[in-house]
Amino acid sequence: MPPAFSFAAARNHRGPLCGYCGEHAVSGSLQTALVRDSSVIDVVEFALPGQRIVHACCDEHLAVLVRKAKLEWVDEQWWFGLLCQASQDSSLSRASLRQISRRVRLSTEQLDAALRWNAGRADPVAHLPGGQSC
Ligand SMILES: [Zn+2]
Repeated sequence: MPPAFSFAAARNHRGPLCGYCGEHAVSGSLQTALVRDSSVIDVVEFALPGQRIVHACCDEHLAVLVRKAKLEWVDEQWWFGLLCQASQDSSLSRASLRQISRRVRLSTEQLDAALRWNAGRADPVAHLPGGQSC
């Protein structure tokens, strides 16, 4: 008996959806770009830090996505992500927040701004993944 036809699977074979309008690109018109994203820090592996790939169905929608990504970048979020990532480094397991911030080359002002950013979030974290209070 042949497998049941799956519309979902068929849709997936048409490639990624446009990040702006949610439609599939017509064959050959798919646009892809690498944009900056301050929320993208892989705490396990430092792959593509601060970047993500966007897909669009046309030039116009790609331009919108790229513009939107630029507006959404938040330095403080990026700095806080760097702190979170570095805090998990085994060589920094007993390090203070200040020592961690030095490791990722943040100034005192940047560290303070990153902590203020976290404190101002709807759901701030009390500790970095490495256990340091923040
Ligand atoms: Zn689109």
